[in-house]
Amino acid sequence: MSEPTDRKQGERYANFSFDTQVVHAGWDAHAEPTGAVMPPIYMTSTYIQDGPAKPRMGYEYTRTQNPTRFALQDALAALENGKAAFTCASGMAAVHTLMLTLKPGDLIVAGRDLYGGSHRLFDEIQARFGLRYLYVDTTQADVLDNLPEDTTLLYLETPSNPTLCVTDLEAAIAGAKKVGARTAVDNTFATPALQRPLDLGADYVLHSTTKYICGHSDVVGGALIVKDEKLADDIWFHQNSAGTSNSPFDAFLTLRGLRTLHLRMERHCTTALQIAEWLDQHEGVGKVLYPGLPNHLNHDSAKRQMKAFGGMVSFVLPGGVPQSTRFVEACKLFSLAESLGGVESLIELPAPMTHASLSPEKRKEIGIEDGLVRLSVGIEDSNDLLADLDQALAESVS
Ligand SMILES: *Cc1c(COP(=O)(O)O)cnc(C)c1O
Repeated sequence: MSEPTDRKQGERYANFSFDTQVVHAGWDAHAEPTGAVMPPIYMTSTYIQDGPAKPRMGYEYTRTQNPTRFALQDALAALENGKAAFTCASGMAAVHTLMLTLKPGDLIVAGRDLYGGSHRLFDEIQARFGLRYLYVDTTQADVLDNLPEDTTLLYLETPSNPTLCVTDLEAAIAGAKKVGARTAVDNTFATPALQRPLDLGADYVLHSTTKYICGHSDVVGGALIVKDEKLADDIWFHQNSAGTSNSPFDAFLTLRGLRTLHLRMERHCTTALQIAEWLDQHEGVGKVLYPGLPNHLNHDSAKRQMKAFGGMVSFVLPGGVPQSTRFVEACKLFSLAESLGGVESLIELPAPMTHASLSPEKRKEIGIEDGLVRLSVGIEDSNDLLADLDQALAESVS
């Protein structure tokens, strides 16, 4: 297994600003023999060789090497300011690939309000293979400062789902370093447009590229990005061995979506803030959870480490599940669906939907009230979105 020899893609753009790299990173039409401005979709499982063990440009088999996937990987590595990215069939496949690099007995200290699928993977599958998981509240400074001495990996999400808690990344990374542990950050909600954990010293960044990175709700995918060469070699070996990589077609679509990340995030953030402020002053609405509101518990950390506050807004309706059910059913523009991060606005109820697998006690512990509503604010006209919420609120109390 070898690295292809023609991977100069993207270097041309390495010194440009983030917004320029979003548009160009990972693909250099000047270096392409045909001059193709966009990467072709190399739908091939294998590549002819010029002699035994003489692949033409290092390409042997698509699980291992594929030019379309490499274009996406190089783009994501550039945007997160890493050395290497590994794209996977789903966000969960990316999380799984990271855990494959650990060994029985290793202790993973994880944020208690992780994506539900990550919880399930850790507790019901990886624990069977001897990995140990401990869940903590990573928003607490004293927790970060006193991680167990034998921690191997600190694993966290910020902002978290659906409560939008923000972990102080600098404090988390310092706490992990103090006990000789590495740090992994699931950066799905923020994206590199808003925060870059590798720049703050994190070792791994993960994404469900299904969400904002692709941004059009038409592909499921994931990514794992690192700065350190040794960690990159390790992930390369495990990803190839376990076969968690994504298809060339999915890589193409994801890269196509990625090219507008900076513009989409700007609109998601502006409209989400507007909606959060509107909900916050509405007397029919309980608590509003949005890191951009000054009354948010972790607003200071969010201000320090994020360029803007993201497109996700959660809030509580005082009438519990009966009212929140009437509310989501009355929405005409926000579509009732799981997932997030697409150009279209979505709405869902964590308690009976995405977080139904957690016990009521566990939900209560991490702040998921029965009447909690989660919005993925899209890039439609903000007045249309506000009007939709307004009429649905009126409907939900009548
Ligand atoms: C969706 C999601 C995942 C899982 O990704 P899939 O692409 O659905 O496998 C992991 N982490 C977060 C924060 C997510 O939102």
